[in-house]
Amino acid sequence: MKLKMKKLLFLSIIFLSLVFLISCSNTPKPQTAKKAKYVFLFIGDGMGYSHIALTEAYLANLEDEIGVKKLVMSEFPVHGVCNTFCETRQITGSAAAGTAIATGNKTGVSIISKSSDKSVDYKSLAYSLKESGYKIGIISNVAINHATPASFYANADRRSMYYEIGVQLANSGFDFFGGGGFKYPEGRNADMENLYDFTEKNGYNIYRDINDLDKAKCEIPCMCVNPTILDEAEMPFAIDPNYKKSIPLADFLEEAIDLLENKDGFFIMLEGGKIDWAAHSNDAAGIIHEMLEFDKAIAKAFEFYLLHPEETLIIVTSDHETGGLALGNAVNEYQTDFKFLQNQKYSQAYIEKEIAKSMLINREFQELLTLIDTLCFNNSISFTEEEIGKLKLAYDYTISGISHYNPNELYEIYGGYHAIVSAVINIINTRAGIGFTTWSHTASPVPVIAIGTGSELFDNYFDNTEISSKIWDAMGM
Ligand SMILES: [Zn+2]
Repeated sequence: MKLKMKKLLFLSIIFLSLVFLISCSNTPKPQTAKKAKYVFLFIGDGMGYSHIALTEAYLANLEDEIGVKKLVMSEFPVHGVCNTFCETRQITGSAAAGTAIATGNKTGVSIISKSSDKSVDYKSLAYSLKESGYKIGIISNVAINHATPASFYANADRRSMYYEIGVQLANSGFDFFGGGGFKYPEGRNADMENLYDFTEKNGYNIYRDINDLDKAKCEIPCMCVNPTILDEAEMPFAIDPNYKKSIPLADFLEEAIDLLENKDGFFIMLEGGKIDWAAHSNDAAGIIHEMLEFDKAIAKAFEFYLLHPEETLIIVTSDHETGGLALGNAVNEYQTDFKFLQNQKYSQAYIEKEIAKSMLINREFQELLTLIDTLCFNNSISFTEEEIGKLKLAYDYTISGISHYNPNELYEIYGGYHAIVSAVINIINTRAGIGFTTWSHTASPVPVIAIGTGSELFDNYFDNTEISSKIWDAMGM
């Protein structure tokens, strides 16, 4: 009897297992695969992993802690990596990288969404989505006809064809443009029809006053331009005083979400364009402030995701790394002092303007040191002899135009920027324990961080040309 019971139990287990297996094979897979209807693509221009890491370490160090205080983007569950090389160079630029991300095709440096022989126009994901009924938003804090945003709505032989690119913006039919204005709005020779007028004629509402940028008043299609735009139609650096009168990237995004949300979905690309600019000038404090602004915009998208978690996909990536930024340098061995960067209250660009202005009225070296202390060190520095030596060298070169360095050496130490300012930036980085290998881009792979529906597609190591097809898949297209 006992044996019979055991046998019965054994047979029952086999039977139940079989029933389970058969039911598994016959039943369709549970429908977890929802489609992303609202897609946010964030591109931190020039943002490598070290730009994220520096910002997070700085935030921790400000609280006298060793470690990291995570940005919103870092809390997202999927962290992938992608390559950035372009067709003609291992180290890419924003035009070729933007083309790869927007259209899924490699091309040559400086070409906007065309083949490297310029014979074929590549179609961006944004146009395909527009045709499928999605609302499209493009936001950047640099000129809206700059390479990264342009890759999504224009085709151009060269990124420098700002006017022709601007015309294509007006013809795009996209719903929302926000942030910077048009660079060369009347062409390089200022003899063309004004691009703002042309865009308005094409049916766009143009909002350039901060009082107009009220959601209740704005209507799509529209172009919302920051009230303060600088020489290259870009928004000010986030660290600078003139940014305070600006509309933060997060607010442009909030506006876009409000205007574009509809039952058919939207695609919004937001570029943090000035991370790259700060990194080019090796301005670590500038990078941190740009990263924080960029992350605030990501936080805004994350709020939206929390309301629509099954229909939203957020991707945060970069077109390339800029600066060869490292947390550590060749001088300080194992020491860092990122907290030191809090003394810097202005961007490298702002400091450069102030120092150039003061040099025009023939400032004495000692007075220059006082100005540098105010601008860069919050009146707190006592320069070492070595630092004074570096500054004096740059000062003498600025005054006389003569240096014992040859042109290559001059480029290596000053990067083509104002020599005194580069010398100051070098002092800041040396003290903070930050290294930069270049004034340009690098070929380092970049992060691709994601959350939401379809985000698992980004959980590996891939090429930047795969981003658009992964978005396409996540949207079930
Ligand atoms: Zn760049």
